[in-house]
Amino acid sequence: MQYDLLIKNGTIIDGSGMPRFRADVGVVGGKVATIGKIHEGANQVIDAEGHVVAPGFVDAHTHMDAQVFWDPLGTCSCWHGITSVVMGNCGFSLAPCAEKDKLLVMRNLERAEDIAPEAMEAGIKWSWTTFPEYLDAVDRLPKGINYAAYMGHSALRTYVMGERAFTDAATDADLTAMKQEVRNAIRAGAIGFTTSRTRNHQTPQGQPVASRLATWDEVRQLVGVMGELGAGIFEIAGEDTGLNPDRINDYLGRLKALALETGVPVTFGMFSNRKAPDYWRSFYSLAAETVAAGGRMFVQAHSRSLNLVLSFETTMPFDRLPVWRDIRKLPLSEQEAALRNPDLRQKLIEAASQRTGERIVGAEARPANYKWLFVMDRATPPYRSVAQIAAEQNKDPVEVIIDLALAKKMKQFFLQPLANENDSHALEMIKHPHSVVTFSDSGAHVSQIMDSSLQTHLLSHWVREKQAVTLEEAVRMLALVPASYWGLSGRGLLREGWKADVVVFNPDTIAPMMPEVDHDLPAGARRLKQKASGLMATVVNGKVVLRNNEHTGALPGQLLRGPLAQR
Ligand SMILES: [Zn+2]
Repeated sequence: MQYDLLIKNGTIIDGSGMPRFRADVGVVGGKVATIGKIHEGANQVIDAEGHVVAPGFVDAHTHMDAQVFWDPLGTCSCWHGITSVVMGNCGFSLAPCAEKDKLLVMRNLERAEDIAPEAMEAGIKWSWTTFPEYLDAVDRLPKGINYAAYMGHSALRTYVMGERAFTDAATDADLTAMKQEVRNAIRAGAIGFTTSRTRNHQTPQGQPVASRLATWDEVRQLVGVMGELGAGIFEIAGEDTGLNPDRINDYLGRLKALALETGVPVTFGMFSNRKAPDYWRSFYSLAAETVAAGGRMFVQAHSRSLNLVLSFETTMPFDRLPVWRDIRKLPLSEQEAALRNPDLRQKLIEAASQRTGERIVGAEARPANYKWLFVMDRATPPYRSVAQIAAEQNKDPVEVIIDLALAKKMKQFFLQPLANENDSHALEMIKHPHSVVTFSDSGAHVSQIMDSSLQTHLLSHWVREKQAVTLEEAVRMLALVPASYWGLSGRGLLREGWKADVVVFNPDTIAPMMPEVDHDLPAGARRLKQKASGLMATVVNGKVVLRNNEHTGALPGQLLRGPLAQR
């Protein structure tokens, strides 16, 4: 047999959790044809000596809905071994929505997800109204990796109810119309339906995003449509129950009932939190109880603390304070000059302790607590806190921040953890039987967080440095587990006859690299970018998309439609 692609001399870790073995992988027609000793020729050969050959990773929690129109590669996820993503999480999708109403849908995304409206305006050619039409538009786009898409509740509600979506409960007529759109979307291949009920999701005007106006009964009925069809997953950015046990129990009870009465898989992200260290455990117990009762529920877990990545090039904790506010508006070089001016410097240090009382939402920078503000001088922990350095140098913490920034020409990053601060909790969650390791939020919070590297963090930090997870387990967590939960058929394992989504990496060097700030979004909007080291090749549907993490020019990615569209 003549192969299209031959990956020779590598160590296979096939995604099942089975121990590694040495073999060659032959690819024909986008699928793995042979795993074993291969003597035949191939059009293209990769020598993977010293490298692991694994199924491509799946990130099931992204917001690439807008980005897919201007970035076919799917950065930054593609740089971390990802070959398939799921977008449309947390109620945010770009359909259904007519072009004339696009500003309403963008309003849902702009602040809640930190995607610049000017980038969306410049980068998206709007060619749809309904969700099936959106899927067709994505289908036609050139793509480096594979994309599956949920329909989001905020878009759906805005489509059916217009401005009322941001203020009113749905009428019976609204609900009937929404249910029909869910039916149409799932039949056309939407992978499911998503919503948000968290106060972290607000519009720039400080209103709740549209899905937050829905009653629980509205949510139940919409998820019920997927139950009737026997297809689709429900993802929810959960309610803010606080620590009130009655509210927690009420919410948990409704989630469990929803999963059991509809039979629809229910999923959500969950983090440990230093202010409520055991809150997450009740959600894992809920998943276990729901599964024991015959339902489907799984938790999305992150591989490290959820950090804001702050810098003078993006945002800092002081940006809204008097004195700071005026200086932070200036070009970076003028800010640098201001920080070197002794009088101004003193004023800034004094002003830094003030509070504006403004409500902070989502992934916006928090007021500084210097014990929980870390200097990001490398891509993986350990990090030292600003408080610790201030104590050692006998300086004010704000002075430490200013001096570090000046020493790096304003390019110093600081990490402000919002959740999952406890590494042992993070480890317990990633190893939990009801977890899926995902939640990069890639495509969203583009200047606030940089979690596209959570997969390479798992491989470098937990596998190599801490030896807390075997490489076989880690590959299973990143490939087969998410591919199975989201029903990406033929993906997630390296097996003969399965799709040739393959990642070839060096297990001794794979790691996230330092992030950087770039202005490469449409209309010059800024974002954080982060690549990884140790990746030799990323193969999607049998074609090499990245070689040493550089684009080869190939665009073999596909739209992955849900099961009803495939029948
Ligand atoms: Zn999200």
